[in-house]
Amino acid sequence: MTYLDYQATTPLAPEAREEMLRWLGGPDSDTFGNPHSPHRMGRSAVAAVELARERVAMLFPAGGRVVFTGSATEAINMAIFGSNARMMAVSAIEHAAVLDATMQEWDPNATILPVNSEGLIDAAAPLPDRRQLVAVMQVNNEIGTIQPVDALFARLREAGALCLCDAVQGAGKLAPPAFADMIAVSAHKLHGPKGVGALWIRDGVELRPFIHGGGQEQGLRSGTLSPALCAGFGAAAKLAVERREEDAAHVEILWTRARDLFAGWTLNGSAEQRWHGNLNLRLEGLDVARLMSDCRDVMFSAGSACASGSGRPSHVLRALGLTEPQAKSSIRLGFGRYTTLEDLEAAAEKLIRAASQQ
Ligand code: PLP
Repeated sequence: MTYLDYQATTPLAPEAREEMLRWLGGPDSDTFGNPHSPHRMGRSAVAAVELARERVAMLFPAGGRVVFTGSATEAINMAIFGSNARMMAVSAIEHAAVLDATMQEWDPNATILPVNSEGLIDAAAPLPDRRQLVAVMQVNNEIGTIQPVDALFARLREAGALCLCDAVQGAGKLAPPAFADMIAVSAHKLHGPKGVGALWIRDGVELRPFIHGGGQEQGLRSGTLSPALCAGFGAAAKLAVERREEDAAHVEILWTRARDLFAGWTLNGSAEQRWHGNLNLRLEGLDVARLMSDCRDVMFSAGSACASGSGRPSHVLRALGLTEPQAKSSIRLGFGRYTTLEDLEAAAEKLIRAASQQ
């Protein structure tokens, strides 16, 4: 079996797993304390959480605080519903966590910032001038394009806007967005555990509480934290930062080889302004469902579905100007730290052979 779906989730790093096991806390251990209890076991649990918070903070710029959440989706919702902004603008290719929270719940008339045929937003686009919250992601999850968030956010902040960046696909891989006011990340996209994310909030930015109760997480998100999940996230974040160059160099080798192998296929989105662990390709007339069923031992994603299983055509590929048949003949291959060149080559060969037999 070959796993080529690194944008959906990533394998847990052994180092993160190790940290987590310590804090799972069976009856004979002294590591099951509630991190919000004042006694000795509580204090050691909170120390683990705070160490994890320091490590997760390495993913962000200086000058802000980290709030743990249950996912990046939760972090994004906390930012959108907790801000005092009066208007919103979002890029056309945001993840459903941003788009649905905005358009369905916050403001159906929010401004949509378009992207060009390369999947890139125009950093110099004219912007509405009233106080607003602007959400633009760092790296797109479907096509891997890297948005010019630094240039855009620098302008926006000067104009008095509040900038939210979904950095789920870029965190630990790229430098953090320097001018964002809030940044959402998820542990499981960077070899940490599922079920934990974080919102980074720049000093001076105030949010309304999102989940009410015991007042944990600086009053914003009540509920008992899991020391095991936080510790796993912290270990994964530390490792991602330490291995950033090494991981990127490995991904570059995989990307170059994969581009060669799939030379007859068309790349969706910019090749240059892109995280190279994302290969979103289309082949005219390709029946993706059939390809998936013919290559069951290769884990990859249909490029045409934005939320797996939803059956909705990808709003991202459509925003690039692709026709519905083009979007439907697209697949997404995602690889990274633990993908070997041999595995990638063998999987690519299977996919290419099955596609040519259609
Ligand atoms: N934003 C992006 C770009 C994503 O790729 C994902 C997950 O697919 C999310 C947000 C949501 O992350 P989580 O699974 O932590 O809710």
